[in-house]
Amino acid sequence: MAQDQWRRSIRQLKEYIPGKAIEEVKRELGLDKIIRLASNENPFGPSPKAVQAMQAAVADSQLYPESTGREVREKLANLYQLALDQLLIANGGDNVISLIGTAYINPGDEVIYCTPTFPAYRTTTLLMEGIPVEVPMTQDYTYNLEGILAAITENTKLIFVCNPNNPTGTIVENADFEAFLQQLPPHVIVVLDEAYVEFIAREGYRNGIDFLKDGYPVICIRTFSKLYGLAGTRIGYAVGSKEHLKPICAVREPFAANRIAQAGALAALDDTEYKSKSIRENRFEAVKLIKELRGLGFDVNDTHANFLFVDVKENVSKVSEVLLHDGIIIRPCTAWGLKTHARITIGTSEQNERLLQSLRKISAKLAKS
Ligand SMILES: *Cc1c(COP(=O)(O)O)cnc(C)c1O
Repeated sequence: MAQDQWRRSIRQLKEYIPGKAIEEVKRELGLDKIIRLASNENPFGPSPKAVQAMQAAVADSQLYPESTGREVREKLANLYQLALDQLLIANGGDNVISLIGTAYINPGDEVIYCTPTFPAYRTTTLLMEGIPVEVPMTQDYTYNLEGILAAITENTKLIFVCNPNNPTGTIVENADFEAFLQQLPPHVIVVLDEAYVEFIAREGYRNGIDFLKDGYPVICIRTFSKLYGLAGTRIGYAVGSKEHLKPICAVREPFAANRIAQAGALAALDDTEYKSKSIRENRFEAVKLIKELRGLGFDVNDTHANFLFVDVKENVSKVSEVLLHDGIIIRPCTAWGLKTHARITIGTSEQNERLLQSLRKISAKLAKS
């Protein structure tokens, strides 16, 4: 059988099933106007300045990009007051996760994280023949740092902390995180996945780069896919000490990220007004949507990201199927083993209103039946 020829560690991997694509739903249901609230994309799209820069970059497509994404690193170094060699550009945050796995995980190494969380940590661990050590979140769906500390052994190599966490939208308290870092044994590295860090709505909140500057052993993962609206062009980066990034540099592909994505990222970083507007709109809509959803009787976590973690208190597969027929794609959390939870991206005001209309209809029907 062909599978016998596969690398052994691949046979135990589950295929990643992304949110349904708009094209797919159009085709399957013959619907025209589709709203996708399933993948935490920026509902306003990329900055028009980024679009312009990308269009201009297309004309140079015959040229390989600069191999280390130097210009993007320079801009980020400037923005966050980092050295150039504390930054590594890659083909999206997902790519950074697998590079970290490739660079660090030996067969038998233990990798700890909490569940439910981003599935890529498990995938990369299994692929590298490491051992995933999964600690359940706390009751209120935040990362269980004490549980992680208790799970550390001499074989622990990496700890993934997704902050804000996908799919729950929760963050760890700064004081708790610092206490956690102080108790780590020296053979452990913390990988802080900060795909949504820009959305954290708390004055003075310290992020991974702050802790890195304090000298703690953290590698941060960042992306242009969420706030900056560049999910389709693929670009993300790692921030860490030069020593921690060294093996990752050694295994990355020769050309960090494509030319078009780099041009888009540079322009997106410059357009601070657009960025502020995206954050502001997201926050405003989050407050409204949370209130309305709670009004419908759903449990909704406060969020620090651009999505909501919603307990619809019904079979969520059914609810999302009905929404789909109304042209709305959400993300049921069934892949995480949660039967009544959904992850719903915060859309534009108009999109959210359409979502609420559908949900009101559904819950009225359910109340009658
Ligand atoms: C979206 C996301 C990423 C990375 O996305 P890319 O598009 O690959 O940059 C990483 N971690 C989490 C938690 C995410 O939600």
